[in-house]
Amino acid sequence: NLARQAERQLEAVGDHDALLFEGSWHTKASMADRAARVAAGLKGRGVSAGDRVVILMANCPEVMISYSALLRAGAVITPLIFLVSVDELAYALESSQAVAVITTPEFLPKVTAAVRPGSCVRFVTVVGDLPPAEPSGLPVVSYAELEASEPGDIVDRADDELAALLFTGGTTGRSKGVPLTHSNLFWCGSAGHESSDVEGATSTLVPLPLAHAYGLLVTCIGMHTTEPSQLVLMRWFDPAGWLDLASTQRVHRSALVPSMIQMLLAQPLESADLSALMTVSSGAAPLPAAVREQFEARVPSVQVQEGYGCTESASIISTNPYGRRKPGSVGLPVPGCQVSIRDDEGKELPVGQDGEICARSPGIMTGYWLSPEATATAIVDGWLHTGDIGHLDSDGYVYIVDRKKDLIIRGGFNVYPRDIEDVLVTHPAVAMAAAVGRPDERLGEEVVAFVSLRADATATEEELIQHTRERMAASKYPRQVHIVDQVPLTSVGKLDRKKLRQLVRES
Ligand code: ATP
Repeated sequence: NLARQAERQLEAVGDHDALLFEGSWHTKASMADRAARVAAGLKGRGVSAGDRVVILMANCPEVMISYSALLRAGAVITPLIFLVSVDELAYALESSQAVAVITTPEFLPKVTAAVRPGSCVRFVTVVGDLPPAEPSGLPVVSYAELEASEPGDIVDRADDELAALLFTGGTTGRSKGVPLTHSNLFWCGSAGHESSDVEGATSTLVPLPLAHAYGLLVTCIGMHTTEPSQLVLMRWFDPAGWLDLASTQRVHRSALVPSMIQMLLAQPLESADLSALMTVSSGAAPLPAAVREQFEARVPSVQVQEGYGCTESASIISTNPYGRRKPGSVGLPVPGCQVSIRDDEGKELPVGQDGEICARSPGIMTGYWLSPEATATAIVDGWLHTGDIGHLDSDGYVYIVDRKKDLIIRGGFNVYPRDIEDVLVTHPAVAMAAAVGRPDERLGEEVVAFVSLRADATATEEELIQHTRERMAASKYPRQVHIVDQVPLTSVGKLDRKKLRQLVRES
């Protein structure tokens, strides 16, 4: 039971400043106390064991407090990134059959619009000032009122009972519900802690949305750290804010996605004191080699450690151990996780050969939420078929080539968008790049790239095509490159393949 784990950890490590958010420190014990009160308040409002409760907020201490509160109440954490549309929220509320929503005033109108007739949502809790009476008639309770409750006991849940219902990034299609049990998340935290432990690195800067599996991992790791540790939490990533916090708080590590690292390259990194920063973990999407090299050259104290996982694996499959990383690889399977590379028939492939990356670990979900068909293809004999293509090397390090679904087949040749993106970002004027396929009568698909330029840099589309032509096989390089203000990203900061395909249709 994760709530008991959190309690044990507080006893073992002791109270200390644990979370810095917008200039205020929150101690571990004060957060635990607030969580115990919120749990009692939720129970008093009829939330019982197994109930799903949606959390729709930007990062703030109350997100973490609500996670702990829901675990204490035996309820199921159901976080959503606040950028969801009303329809996406309505879908999540309906499919999860959530009984309550925890949100902030700015997102209350979105929640009200998404709670459709027949919904299971009985009330909404608002962190912050309570807005005027809700015209929809939906009961709205202030978070402060829940916090005024007297703490009660932890509601016991078995290890195989649900702790969280996460939604996948929705990069390739409609976001899928991934139920994770207490033991899935317990394992994710302990494997994450073991595999990412760096001696002396006790403070972490986190701009990732805590609502996504990668951000949640950070919270789960926090329950397993064996010495007092600090989290410096950002409401939302902004490159200048990151640089300011990283230097003034002298953080030791930060967890980022590649697009954040790319955006940081446009910052005056050399003018800030980042000498305390030892490691940056990068995950959730491919990290171009050129971006890693430039970042490390400009922040010499840092080692970028790439890791890999997905929501279905409780966010973690492999990480590069500090000091033993292999650039270009996403690292070694974390303790308790096995990785096997399979062909289309499910046969295991030898070292060095590309196939589908399959993983087996105590973190793997038992199946998608209410979707037996999707489960049947994703999990075969306990092995999660990730939909990612890659290989292992002779030391067991995992290398990702690309996602199966993103493969472009041009005139019968396989083209991985990642190869094109990696080459485009080596051009000095390019800040970010994305490649997609455009339906083509003659070739089946043609390769099209979208590129955003660095501030003050110039390049022509022809020049960028030429840059790839000189470095790639004739069957692969993009015949069309569009320079855009911004390459579309998902709410998690991944290249948004759905929007890119739409751009291709419109171009
Ligand atoms: P959806 O499944 O809804 O399309 P999603 O796959 O983005 O969304 P997540 O669970 O957030 O949902 O992402 C997992 C995927 O992210 C992995 O399967 C893989 O394709 C990609 N990924 C994660 N880490 C890395 C990495 N280090 N390098 C390359 N790709 C990565």
